[in-house]
Amino acid sequence: MLQLDSHPTGRHFLQIPGPSPVPERILRAISLPTIDHRGPEFGVLGLKVLAGIRQVFQTRHPVVIYPASGTGAWEAALSNTLSAGDAVLMYETGHFATLWQKMALRLGLAPEFIGLPGTDETGLPRSWRHGVQADLVEARLREDGGHRIKAVCVVHNETSTGVTSDIAAVRRAMDAAGHPALLMVDSISGLASADYRHDEWGVDVTVSGSQKGLMLPPGISFNALSPKAMEASKTATLPKAFWAWDEIVEMNASGYWPYTPNTNLLYGLSESLDMLLGEGLEQVFARHQRWAAGVRAAVQAWGLPIQCAEASVYSPVLTGVITPQGVDADAIRRLIHERFDLSLGTGLGKLKGRMFRMGHLGDSNDLTLVAMLAGVEMGLKLAGVKLAASGVAAAMEHFSRHAAPMALKKAA
Ligand SMILES: *Cc1c(COP(=O)(O)O)cnc(C)c1O
Repeated sequence: MLQLDSHPTGRHFLQIPGPSPVPERILRAISLPTIDHRGPEFGVLGLKVLAGIRQVFQTRHPVVIYPASGTGAWEAALSNTLSAGDAVLMYETGHFATLWQKMALRLGLAPEFIGLPGTDETGLPRSWRHGVQADLVEARLREDGGHRIKAVCVVHNETSTGVTSDIAAVRRAMDAAGHPALLMVDSISGLASADYRHDEWGVDVTVSGSQKGLMLPPGISFNALSPKAMEASKTATLPKAFWAWDEIVEMNASGYWPYTPNTNLLYGLSESLDMLLGEGLEQVFARHQRWAAGVRAAVQAWGLPIQCAEASVYSPVLTGVITPQGVDADAIRRLIHERFDLSLGTGLGKLKGRMFRMGHLGDSNDLTLVAMLAGVEMGLKLAGVKLAASGVAAAMEHFSRHAAPMALKKAA
């Protein structure tokens, strides 16, 4: 067996914003023997997870499950709905939006990448500190009188920055412009942590993955569809075979797949759905908002800037912290990992070395987050960063003053 000598005793603190820690319940479910994917028991499992996952996306329409990472589901969204040379309006919120745009280029699409121009007082790109500006999307669509743009693609929870975007506002902007483009949303790290409503927000394809809010290991990913997206897939001509929705949706009607699905991760998904739907999505979202507020209280006490510059779109999933000019955020991360066995998210793309990310999603609780903050606070001090006050104390204050919704429910 692989020996991870970096964590000899106690628990490793996996505080990156995905993969998130996998609960024991889910690990146990995944360890059950693999069954025949054409046998009778499998159909029961298939139907259960396909119905449950629709509830998590808040949709009545099909959700396709792929044995692939989130990147595969990005490709599936584009290749099922679009044709070579199609113009696609994509919005630059950060590293993941940038990667999706690069994929569109590779697939032979013509992405147009818009966002806020310039940098702010931190020297970081403004577009990487704010959510999607729906008015920019609306203005661009109004100019496109000939409807050359076939899809608008945005990221719901930009995991590289800790900024969410108002997806309902993007839909309103598209409707206000009277534009027929498809709306495609990456909610790989938003789903099952941040409020997300595929049908109500008029999304045509939502892309997601297993290793973030769903608390599963990496390895399965999703496309939630709309009737309009399914219609578009009938005439779209980008090559699609493995990713093609039609055969999968057809066989899913009886709980099976046209190929061997990831049986053991589907056991895990079944368990995850029991946990999330048993708790109730409202509770799940409230729990993440509360954690995020506690973690932000710590960052504010330290006196360090939060990567997200707009309070209305702070991510409930992760918080990015900008380190002072000249202090290498990755050196601090390495130090914290060596000294305290705690993994933090690195600064990606344009943010490399300038910030780190703390995940606060999934299988967590107040004390894991206080411990995470303690590790970060010790690391910052060891690295010589001047802190205004103790963030750990501020978070403890926050968590003790605001009782968790679950605790209140139990006490009632
Ligand atoms: C994690 C993530 C991805 C990439 O997913 P993989 O599973 O690594 O392929 C894409 N977009 C966002 C917003 C993510 O958080």
